[in-house]
Amino acid sequence: MSKPKIVLSRCFISPVRYNGGIVNDDFIEKLKSYINYIDYCPEVDIGLGIPRARIIIKIDGEQKKLIQPETGRDLTDIMINYVNKVLNELKDIDGFILKSKSPSCGVTSAKLYKNNAIIGKTDGFFADTIKKFFPYLPVEDEGRLRDEEIRKHFLIRIFAFSEFRALNSNPSLRGLVEFHSKYKYLLMTYSQKNLKELGKIVADRKMNLEDKLLQYKNLFYQAFIRKPSIKRHVNTLLHLIGHVSKKLTTKERTHLINLIEKYSKGLVEIRVILELLRSLSFRFENEYILIQKYLDPYPDELNV
Ligand code: SF4
Repeated sequence: MSKPKIVLSRCFISPVRYNGGIVNDDFIEKLKSYINYIDYCPEVDIGLGIPRARIIIKIDGEQKKLIQPETGRDLTDIMINYVNKVLNELKDIDGFILKSKSPSCGVTSAKLYKNNAIIGKTDGFFADTIKKFFPYLPVEDEGRLRDEEIRKHFLIRIFAFSEFRALNSNPSLRGLVEFHSKYKYLLMTYSQKNLKELGKIVADRKMNLEDKLLQYKNLFYQAFIRKPSIKRHVNTLLHLIGHVSKKLTTKERTHLINLIEKYSKGLVEIRVILELLRSLSFRFENEYILIQKYLDPYPDELNV
């Protein structure tokens, strides 16, 4: 499995917070061994010191401004110039993990002020611009990643995008065909429409490899935008079982179907069914199921 390249807020790495602190987060600590990362601290990078007076996002007419109340400095333009410069230079990134609640890095969690009152939550300046530059990449903060479903969705995306980058750096038609086969059931879960379109791209004999990869990339990244529902997982599981069901005894088949029904009601974890499916695939030597990324979208160790 290739290593995703992730942008991290620097305060997960070193003590750069406004108060000179560092952020310790168990999941990010664990994740570091499985990714390559680049870190940024927008506030330090624009020249604010450590420690520094706090900054806030203030609404001024229609516009959001980045203000340092203690000094009265308006940091809006300097921050906008900085984030545009950094993001223009960023390449080959699979996702972002930023620090929650920060007026620079927070993802929908920075306080928004009007006059001296908090009127809601918003994206920090860095997070806001990242979302505009990279609409198909996952952008999360450590707070949101504590939710198991959001975390899984994030991991699935960063590892899928990283594998696609690996294919792109060593492109071949055979590689693309194999890639598409491995991702078939994961894509089916996320977007049946995109799965169908992607299949057409792979099979198109008139299209050259370069065009195929370009078109495939766009649809592949788009496919993963929305977290799939339980109903979609159930559909995928039933399709997967179809590959082995003829070889199962009636009792085994009924047991599997019952497990899927329990999963749909939230009584059984999907992992239980996937492991059973994996064991059956080993028993029946079904390589096609065993290569599916749906069973193995990211390293098991990250299931915390
Ligand atoms: S939240 Fe962002 S700006 Fe604030 S210390 Fe962390 S990296 Fe720097």
